[in-house]
Amino acid sequence: MTSSENLGIWQDLADGVRMECGICWIVYDPAEGDEAAQIAAGTPFAALPEDWRCSNCDAPKSKFMAVEDDV
Ligand SMILES: [Zn+2]
Repeated sequence: MTSSENLGIWQDLADGVRMECGICWIVYDPAEGDEAAQIAAGTPFAALPEDWRCSNCDAPKSKFMAVEDDV
């Protein structure tokens, strides 16, 4: 799978969707950003740099899955 195909998947995400790491289950919350990676609060997962990785286990973006909730 090419990186452009990956982007296509994430462009369908709503901006506020939280994403869960498939390796360590840590959650990326767009409302909080990722301070360790200098990602500003309010940055949607789809807008993260392609080389962004899980702040906890270093997994690539492709390992993340949308968190389903009803809120
Ligand atoms: Zn992780």
